[in-house]
Amino acid sequence: MISTKPLIVGNWKMNGLRSATGELHKLINGLGEQGSPSAEVMICPPLTLVMAFSHIASESELQIGAQDCHTEISGAYTGDVSAEMLADAGASAVILGHSERRSYHGERDRDVRDKARAAYRAGLQAIICVGETEGQRRLGLTFDVLRRQLHGSVPASATRRNTIVAYEPVWAIGTGKTPTREEIGEAHNFIAQELGSVLGGEASAGFRILYGGSVTPDNAAMVLSAMDVHGALVGGASLKADSLLAIASAQ
Ligand code: PGA
Repeated sequence: MISTKPLIVGNWKMNGLRSATGELHKLINGLGEQGSPSAEVMICPPLTLVMAFSHIASESELQIGAQDCHTEISGAYTGDVSAEMLADAGASAVILGHSERRSYHGERDRDVRDKARAAYRAGLQAIICVGETEGQRRLGLTFDVLRRQLHGSVPASATRRNTIVAYEPVWAIGTGKTPTREEIGEAHNFIAQELGSVLGGEASAGFRILYGGSVTPDNAAMVLSAMDVHGALVGGASLKADSLLAIASAQ
């Protein structure tokens, strides 16, 4: 059964040393104190912390994910890490196609799709990110961009169990700007419909779609109440346990 609770994923990006373990303990304790937390929570720390965090979180409800993977199982790919290695380190999911990967590492839709297939092969959930830039939105291209990214990045073998889609308008990431509740709902509803055209109606039913981009404790209730929003992908505000706990209990 897929939980009907919202899923709050913390994307730590390239932040966090071993000393950040204190925040992880705070988060686990905070979730424990909530008894039956109103949201599922996952942290995607930098690679260097995935194994330690997975170990620490193993007796708790907290899930641990990673931020990228290679398409191959192993081989001569200096500096890269396979989905199997992430699973071996204790991750249960991996963020793929984040706009920072797309822009700084030139990841194309087909690369994201191949990585998602690698994630499935390793038994990981793929959190596939899509979203338009500010210029694309201004030109009225938001839905065209989302359509192209969904068709190119989501494998035909995606299911609601192995895949989560994250709508992250590039202009809202790390900027403090957020779309309105209506704009978020419109984009999520479009993604839900378009997944039907990528995967077929039945296969696309019940997919979880997260919103990401400047989510904070102050706007989390607004974001989570928008149409077809099933959780949030949180960057900056996920680094502190207190603010992530506030987001996870905002509804
Ligand atoms: P932000 O990042 O919450 O800091 O805007 C979100 C993301 O990039 O996933």
